[in-house]
Amino acid sequence: MSNWQALEQKYYMQTVKRTPLTLVRGQGARVWDDKGREYLDFVGGWAVNSLGHCHPVQAEALAEQAKTLIQVSNQFYTIPQVKLAELLVENSCLDRVFFCNSGAEANEGAVKLARRYGKLKLDGAYEVITTFNSFHGRTLAMTAATGQTKFQEPYTPLPGGFINVDYNSLEAIKEATTRDTCAVMLEVVQGEGGVIIPDKDYLKQVRAWCDEKGLLLVLDEIQTGLGRLGRLFGYELYGVEPDIMTLAKGLGGGVPIGAFLAKEKACLFAPGEHGSTFGGNPLVCAAAYAVTRFIIDNKLYEKVQQVGGRLKDGLEGLRQKYPSIAAVRGVGLLLAMQFESDIADEVLAACLERGLLLNRVKPNALRFMPPLIIGPDEVERAVSIVDEALASL
Ligand SMILES: *Cc1c(COP(=O)(O)O)cnc(C)c1O
Repeated sequence: MSNWQALEQKYYMQTVKRTPLTLVRGQGARVWDDKGREYLDFVGGWAVNSLGHCHPVQAEALAEQAKTLIQVSNQFYTIPQVKLAELLVENSCLDRVFFCNSGAEANEGAVKLARRYGKLKLDGAYEVITTFNSFHGRTLAMTAATGQTKFQEPYTPLPGGFINVDYNSLEAIKEATTRDTCAVMLEVVQGEGGVIIPDKDYLKQVRAWCDEKGLLLVLDEIQTGLGRLGRLFGYELYGVEPDIMTLAKGLGGGVPIGAFLAKEKACLFAPGEHGSTFGGNPLVCAAAYAVTRFIIDNKLYEKVQQVGGRLKDGLEGLRQKYPSIAAVRGVGLLLAMQFESDIADEVLAACLERGLLLNRVKPNALRFMPPLIIGPDEVERAVSIVDEALASL
């Protein structure tokens, strides 16, 4: 058998510290490595595999579409794109959609749209206020939007037009607002930042401030959308409606697709002002349509509330047992366990040995983001593995 990990070391750019595991197959919430060992997957492709691995609904939609039409460009109308657009618009508070290929690209499009709005409706305003500890993607502009020094510092100077302020502080947004501000862009829950949930009424207050000043509220629901928080979209949980919303991760259940949606008043692109070669092609749209339909038809988000609650209770139980756990937080199936010290790597390794895959979101925190189809038995197994792992340290 090839030593894939050694070959990766030789040929691939070393941008990430990988878990030493070569995965070859997946089904539901389980994956298998190249030695045939089985693991319970609570990483879920980084909150992407909403229906788990190789769900028949998704696999069949892909196979069928692959035999029918894969790519023709946006010069033409294609049916899966229109069907997915209708499904997202009819089930959200937004009026129109644009499809692209990733989360970062969705946010780029959202910011470009906000800048069109600023230019045409706000006297040329162009600045976007974002928050510290946020994550909006890896392009240069989204690196400027992402308020974390570790991502920004290697690439300075960064594109202008972004102001990073404290999260959970309306005052900070108020202070940063000037005549040049066109939008405020926030995650509903800061995912990559360690699963930080908004204070009560923060999003409502920001919404009111945006209304008062005529600014657009852009919600980055790339991680929180499509059922992850126990609602179809995270904004429903906090009683606000965005003017622009971005989606990606869970939307395709594993195929690369991103989207931004907007209220009619903000849909200001003229033909030719934005575009994409692959964006919204029949293959990914057919898969995303099948996945999203399944989530909606089966009210998967309601199941997420129940099973997410069980997972949170289980982890909370461990917190009472182990003083090394400082906090358990999150909503739905986006949860984090924070430790008193930087032991996340050790806990991750101890879980891996016992057959559970987790994500280290901070040196002192692990993130749990299993597929939305996860069952109570799998949740119980994961909790007992974390229990054994902590006991072994
Ligand atoms: C993952 C993520 C992105 C970036 O998505 P990519 O597909 O990796 O470009 C942006 N915003 C949030 C909130 C994310 O979780």
